[in-house]
Amino acid sequence: MKTAVGRRKRLPHLFLLAAVATNLAGAAKTLDVYDIDVEGGKSVLIVSPSGESMLIDAGWPGYNGRDSDRIVAAAKSAGLKQIDYLVISHYDIDHLGDVPLLVSKFPVKHIVDHGPMEASGKTPSDQYKAYAAVRDRMDHIVVKAGDSIPLKGVDVLVVTAARKHIEGPLKGGGGPNPLCATTPEVPERPSDVEDNMSIGLLFTLGKFRMLDLADLESAYDYKLMCPNNPIGSVDVYQVSIHGQDKGVSPVLAQALQARVALMGNGPRKGGAPQTWTTLRGASGMEDIWQVHYSIAGGKENNPPDDYIANLDGADGTHWIKLSAASSGTFSVTNGRNAFSKTYR
Ligand SMILES: [Zn+2]
Repeated sequence: MKTAVGRRKRLPHLFLLAAVATNLAGAAKTLDVYDIDVEGGKSVLIVSPSGESMLIDAGWPGYNGRDSDRIVAAAKSAGLKQIDYLVISHYDIDHLGDVPLLVSKFPVKHIVDHGPMEASGKTPSDQYKAYAAVRDRMDHIVVKAGDSIPLKGVDVLVVTAARKHIEGPLKGGGGPNPLCATTPEVPERPSDVEDNMSIGLLFTLGKFRMLDLADLESAYDYKLMCPNNPIGSVDVYQVSIHGQDKGVSPVLAQALQARVALMGNGPRKGGAPQTWTTLRGASGMEDIWQVHYSIAGGKENNPPDDYIANLDGADGTHWIKLSAASSGTFSVTNGRNAFSKTYR
């Protein structure tokens, strides 16, 4: 009898445990993305439903390790013990600058990039040499357009790399892009070819799609998106090149039909009024979220404070967090004040 009573008494606890386990299993099925404020550099942390992780770029060097500290804080907050894939989109200082410090602070398993810098015709900088010395001691993967990065639990397709892009259309893509006929093609800026070497990635989890083209400029948008749109539509667009006015052509912004744009701008870099206007006017765009207030944008060309992780005059210690489910539903949360919005 005693045993039976004891068992009955334990039942509610068992139910509670089962409920907690179900909740955790549900929570683990999201793709989580942290847009980390590295003050006009790039750093985006991605945690797949499997728990494997990817970091795109590692911010600036200097500032007493500010950017690598912010990345480690985000990784720890996500419960990570290591970064499985560190993708360096291209070799500008605001993307690879803090790699040597980051790998000394936090374990990184594989490093992914577009291949030798010499391919872009640029003279390697001291920052690139420091990065390459670290990379060459690690497990190094070179990707090209059309490759997949084997992050478990989410499809990661390389859309662009080293000035090449996917040739055939993806599922849902391939239709004509009507804006190509009326949008003048922008000539490439010969002085900075490295931006257009960027690794661009498309993330797919069930019905959810997110595009990140790193620092591809307007001129390359045109090459990728005209005359036909090979990508189709996405839910979330990680705004190219920090939202500077040399990026984000209407041929890209309109065709993607993104519901949400996430912008990795700094107070004085990116978040350009011209880009803001392009994004604001893009078909289907509901909200623009920014990691930092843009001084150039002023009141007119910044979102409301709840959509900005770090306000005017503040240090960029907060991130924007996106959580997406395979159903296509996703939510975006401001790490500063926990303001959150769900997009169904
Ligand atoms: Zn950049």
